[in-house]
Amino acid sequence: MARDRVPGLNRDADWSGIGVVVAGIGVSGFAAADALLGLGATVTVVDGKADDAARDRARVLEALGATVVLGTGSSWDGETLPDGADVVVTSPGWKPSSPLLVTALAAGLEVWGEVELAWRLRPTTGAAPWLAITGTNGKTTTVRMLTSMLNAAGLKAVAAGNVGTPLLEVVMAETGSGVPRYDVLAVELSSFQLHWSSSLRCHSAVVLNVAPDHVDWHGDLDGYARAKGKIYTGVQVACVYNAADPVTERLVEEAEVTDGARAIGFTLGTPGPSMLGVVSGLLVDRAFLADRHNAAVELANVADVVPNAPHNVANALAAAALARAFGVPATAIRDGLAAFRPDAHRIADVATVAGIRYIDDSKATNPHAAAASLGAYDRIVWIAGGLAKGATFDDLIEGAAGRLKGVVLIGADRAEIAAALARHAPDVPVTEVDAVDTGAMAAIVAAAAQLAEAGDTILLAPACASMDMFANYGERGDRFAAAVLELAGGSGTTG
Ligand code: ADP
Repeated sequence: MARDRVPGLNRDADWSGIGVVVAGIGVSGFAAADALLGLGATVTVVDGKADDAARDRARVLEALGATVVLGTGSSWDGETLPDGADVVVTSPGWKPSSPLLVTALAAGLEVWGEVELAWRLRPTTGAAPWLAITGTNGKTTTVRMLTSMLNAAGLKAVAAGNVGTPLLEVVMAETGSGVPRYDVLAVELSSFQLHWSSSLRCHSAVVLNVAPDHVDWHGDLDGYARAKGKIYTGVQVACVYNAADPVTERLVEEAEVTDGARAIGFTLGTPGPSMLGVVSGLLVDRAFLADRHNAAVELANVADVVPNAPHNVANALAAAALARAFGVPATAIRDGLAAFRPDAHRIADVATVAGIRYIDDSKATNPHAAAASLGAYDRIVWIAGGLAKGATFDDLIEGAAGRLKGVVLIGADRAEIAAALARHAPDVPVTEVDAVDTGAMAAIVAAAAQLAEAGDTILLAPACASMDMFANYGERGDRFAAAVLELAGGSGTTG
C-alpha cells in the first residue's frame, strides 16, 4: 500500500503512486506542490479561497499535472480527504484545528509542514547541515547575524526559512554530488513549522525566548512552547538556550538529543562554564575553548552590536554560540557582527527633530518585543496599539511605567492598553488617535511630538499587529518614517 511507504519518503524515494494532498495554495503550498510533482507524486491541492492569485497558481500547477480544488463553492466540503490521499502537506496559515487536518490525523495520515518536507527533500548525501533558530522574538535578526558570521569565516552559508530564501528552494537547489552548494544553512523556523515537523535533526539549534504569542493558533502557551522545543530533537552538537528564560532551558532538558550534544547557555551577565556572556564590555565564550587551559575566548566588543540594545546583544550571543558550535573562529564573530545591519523596522533611527529622536520598531508586534525596545530608552513617548492577538499588557506597562513620558494609542484594541495604563501608570498622559485612514500617521506623529521635549525618544513599538490599519508592519513603519520626515521638513538630522 502506498501509505506504508510514507515514513521513508525522501529525495531519492520512488514517489509514483503516492497521493499527496497539499493544503493551501499560497507561496508555500505552491512551492511544495511544484517540488512534489517534480518527484512524480500524485498531487491534489485544496484551498477554501479562490482569488486571482490562487487561480493563477492553480493554472500553473494543473499544467504540471496537479488536481486543484479551489473555493468553498466547489464540490469539496473543506473536510473530506480527496480519494487516494496518503499524506498531507500543510501551509503555515492552516491551524491544527482546520477540518481537513483533523480528518487527516483521525484517518491515521501523516501531516507535514513545509519544514518537514524540506528536511526530507535534502539530498541524501552531501546536504548542508542546519543551524536553526526559533523563539518568540529576535529570529530574523539572529539568523542574519549568524549568516554574517559564517560568511566572515569564509563559509558558503545562506539565510533560509522564514527569512531570506525559502527552505524548499534552497534544499532543491542542493545537488548532493560534486561541489556542495552550501557549507551550512542558517535557518529561521516558526512555531507553526515546528509543530508539523518530526524528522528534523539539526547540527545545532537555539530557542531564543518564549513569550505569549500565536496562542490562538497553538491552542495554549504550553502547546506553543512544546512546538518550539521540537527544534532541539536529535541535535548533534549544541542545544543553545537563554539563561534568562527558564522555559528555554527546560526545553533543552526535555529534548532527546544525539549522544554527545551539549547544552550551551547565553547570558547578558558573566558566563559560567559552557556559556557565552558578557565580561567588562566584551562578548566572551566559555563553551567552545581551543584547549582546556583557556578559561575564555574574547569574541567582540558589546559596542560592535548594532542596534546596541540589551536584547540585541542577547541575539548576538545566541548567533555566536551557533557559529562557534560550527567551528567559526573568534575573529569571524567580530567581523560578522561588524558587517551586520538590521533589517528595516527593527529599532531603526528615523530622524532627530528639535532634539527628539524618532525610532521605528514597527516589528514589535507583541508585548515581549515592545518590552525589549522600551527597555532600551529612558524618556519615551510610546506609540502603541493595533491588533492585540489575545495578548495582555499589564506586565509590559508595569515594567515600562517609569520610562514613559507619554503615550499615543492607536488602532482597534487600544482600549485594552488604555486600561492597563490606567492601572499601572495613571499619571502618564495618554492621547488616543481614532483616525484609521491613510492620513492617520501624520496625526499620530503630531500627537507624539506634542507630548515630547528635547532629549526624549518617540518610539513606535506598538506591541500589536498592524493589519487593522495597515497592510503589514512594514507599511506601518514606512508611514511613520514618512510622517516624521514630513514634520522634519529639512530641519531634522536623519539617521
Ligand atoms: P522575529 O523574526 O522573531 O520576529 P526580529 O528579529 O524580526 O524577530 O525582531 C522582532 C521584534 O522583536 C523587533 O521589534 C525587535 O526589536 C524585537 N526583538 C528582537 N530581538 C529580541 C529579543 N531577543 N527579545 C525581545 N525582543 C526582541
